[in-house]
Amino acid sequence: MRANEDYSYLHKQIPVMMVLSLFSGLAYIALGWINDIYIAALFWYFAVVLISTRGYLLYKSFDIKNMSEASLKGWYDKTRILFYFFFLAWLVIFLIYAPESDSGMHYIAIFTEIGASTVASALLFPDKKLYKPILLFLITPLAIYFFMVGTWYGYVLTFFAVTFGWVLLYAANGSNALFSKTIFQATHDFLTGLYSRQYFVEYLQKKMNNLKQSGEFSYILLIDLDYFKTVNDSLGHDIGDRLLQEVVKRIQNNLPENAMLARLGGDEFIITGSDFNNKKECKKNALQFSEELLGILKATYTINQHHLYISASIGVSLISSNGTSAVDFIKEADIAMYEVKDKGRDGVFFYDKEISARVEYNLRLEQLLHLAIEKNELYLAYQPQLNEKQKVMGVEVLARWKSKELGEVSPVEFISIAEKTGLIVEIGQHILESAFITLKEWGEKGIDIKHMSINISVRQFMHHNIIKDVTALCNKYYAAGMKSKLIFEITESIVAEGDNIVETINEIKKLGIRFSIDDFGTGYSSLSYIRKLPVDEIKIDRHFINELSKYSNAEEMVDIIIHIANIFNLVVVAEGVETRAQQDFLIEHDCKVFQGGLYSQPLSKDEFEKFYLENK
Ligand code: C2E
Ligand code: CA
Ligand code: CA
Repeated sequence: MRANEDYSYLHKQIPVMMVLSLFSGLAYIALGWINDIYIAALFWYFAVVLISTRGYLLYKSFDIKNMSEASLKGWYDKTRILFYFFFLAWLVIFLIYAPESDSGMHYIAIFTEIGASTVASALLFPDKKLYKPILLFLITPLAIYFFMVGTWYGYVLTFFAVTFGWVLLYAANGSNALFSKTIFQATHDFLTGLYSRQYFVEYLQKKMNNLKQSGEFSYILLIDLDYFKTVNDSLGHDIGDRLLQEVVKRIQNNLPENAMLARLGGDEFIITGSDFNNKKECKKNALQFSEELLGILKATYTINQHHLYISASIGVSLISSNGTSAVDFIKEADIAMYEVKDKGRDGVFFYDKEISARVEYNLRLEQLLHLAIEKNELYLAYQPQLNEKQKVMGVEVLARWKSKELGEVSPVEFISIAEKTGLIVEIGQHILESAFITLKEWGEKGIDIKHMSINISVRQFMHHNIIKDVTALCNKYYAAGMKSKLIFEITESIVAEGDNIVETINEIKKLGIRFSIDDFGTGYSSLSYIRKLPVDEIKIDRHFINELSKYSNAEEMVDIIIHIANIFNLVVVAEGVETRAQQDFLIEHDCKVFQGGLYSQPLSKDEFEKFYLENK
């Protein structure tokens, strides 16, 4: 397939040709008339009319966005023929004028031929199929003409004509090589030699136009390697590059017929599949091919003695003729690919209505969440934490969002969106401040809880202002003694953020705030970090508690977790306690703090105050 630039370039030359034919035409018609060479005048009259109308129509009918590949090719062939015809017309003038020795017309003939070949090489250099034959059929008659003069200067001129033709050809070839190279670079990826994103978008658009005409179906696969960055970061870019090349080789060796592979950038590749008569078959084939690819890509790679393993996430979008643009189709495949990433990578997902609805819903959530603080829609719930004697010891603060448009939105949903968008920094700060205010109020009212736990998300914790912000809040709301009631709950995943987290934790601990590891046992499952993190408490994840009476190994797990906590001298909180049996097991195994439905759901502030007074 040609690049769009090839067609566009030729398209832009049509008006030039029309102008040339018009002006040279006027000259030839006048000359023909004055010198009684009516046939030339008449010929150019028709040539100009034909070239202009045909040129105009071809120029107008060119619509690269909506033309299928076949119709573009048809257009290209017709335009090429018009160009041949245009230069042939100049040859005809030469043939008519050259024998006219008396009026000096042969000078005009010779000039025409030289001018025409120069124009041909300057105008048409991007296309070898055009300038090569045209130069040949313009220069050859000229050389023959000089040769037939039969004198020594005739031979010299023959030699001159041939040399001139060669120079033009040489120049055009040079420009052509440069033009092709520029287009190649613009349409190909340097590292893998694959087509680039830009070229792929053009290609896909043409393919979609084809499918619209034929009523057939096809698909695109967007392939993103999983954790490729890790390879790059740990082994260096050279190995990363080699791995990408190997991946490309494997995909290329397994491409179905008519499929086309391009690199979108980084570790992202895209493929258009074959065409199918029916949608079901298309879908089946896309799935089959994707799964095949997943398998092929997963086999071990050996690069510079490193044995590498990499999986991929593939998003699929079926190409239909519903007027979506090529770029939108790629976006759909991208959304489907992100679904795979979300669900744990190494898999395939089709873009469908459900996904698109969810993406739209999340987008809407995100927009509304931006205004939630301003509109005062965020508020806090308080879940009591009790000791083994059922006395209220503390509380966990839980965020709530009652949106005017969407109703109650679960924190699992909106906190994760806030994390992804970075909004968590602002929301987290708002939650912190509200919680501080509550604790202060309770202190004044004599609600004397021992601790208040506040969830701090990773992104919020990693924000560079966290220490400053927390210090400012402490200064604003608390007398010294009250600060020691605060516990910040962080998750194990924070360990992945690097070494400075320990420093940050220690800085905040200087304020008197304690730390707890939330959802313990679900994250990094490495013991070394508990030793590293200067925390005071762990919360056994509620899923373990939930499984207590169901699986015997859950009991062992909980037992081990409590043991570990004891080794490191940490307080253990069990959350999600729903049954007496669970509670009894935990008490028996030396757990000291309990939270869950068995005692109380998260409560409003007033409800909590009441609950406290009844259970203090
Ligand atoms: P989490 O920190 O593990 O919070 C405990 C969750 O368990 C709460 O859900 C709570 O309502 C629920 N829960 C407590 N007892 C029981 C029980 O007996 N059974 C069951 N099934 N569930 C129980 P919630 O309020 O929906 O919060 C969900 C998650 O949202 C939290 O999990 C936390 O990760 C996040 N979250 C909530 N509030 C905040 C916040 O202010 N900041 C941040 N960063 N995250 C928050
Ligand atoms: Ca929590
Ligand atoms: Ca938890």
